[in-house]
Amino acid sequence: MLEQKLRSVVRDIPDFPTPGVVFKDITPILKDAGLCMAIVDDLVERLKGIDIDVIAGVESRGFLFGLMLATRLGIPFVPIRKQGRLPYKTIAESYKLEYGQATIEMHEDAIDPGARVLVHDDLLATGGTVVASAKLIEKLGGVVVGFSFIISLDFLKGEGRLTRFSDNIISLVR
Ligand code: 5GP
Repeated sequence: MLEQKLRSVVRDIPDFPTPGVVFKDITPILKDAGLCMAIVDDLVERLKGIDIDVIAGVESRGFLFGLMLATRLGIPFVPIRKQGRLPYKTIAESYKLEYGQATIEMHEDAIDPGARVLVHDDLLATGGTVVASAKLIEKLGGVVVGFSFIISLDFLKGEGRLTRFSDNIISLVR
């Protein structure tokens, strides 16, 4: 089963990036082409019935399966990046981290008004990153129709922060 396979492949890295944090390392997934294809297949299956025009992927691990998914669905992929990395005109949104704050950006022409956008990232923790992403999409006139993740850390209760945008929240492993 895909979920069991993912559980066995994703590595726990203690004290990364800071002491006390256990980081879920998804890079072993990327070494297994069959597993990558199975992930995309499963996401496509779970997204059936949701009308999606665009996939927005969050830097940087959200690019990996976000682009594969968009390509499979035959729809555009747009990157959401950390401040200062996108070359064209951008709009920005800041959000709070445990210590300090972060800013993410999108190109101002990334999506058309009214476009139905799925936000994709590798992992949902507190939800701060994808909430800021959803706000960026709404600033451009887009409609957030769902969120997809490879992993959700349910104990951090990030999902509760997403339901004001959409109830379509997909995670392959919780
Ligand atoms: P949040 O904003 O939900 O608190 O954190 C999620 C963001 O941080 C995602 O962009 C995700 O890539 C990254 N992140 C936080 N913790 C982890 C982790 O343990 N493993 C991975 N792969 N990414 C993480």
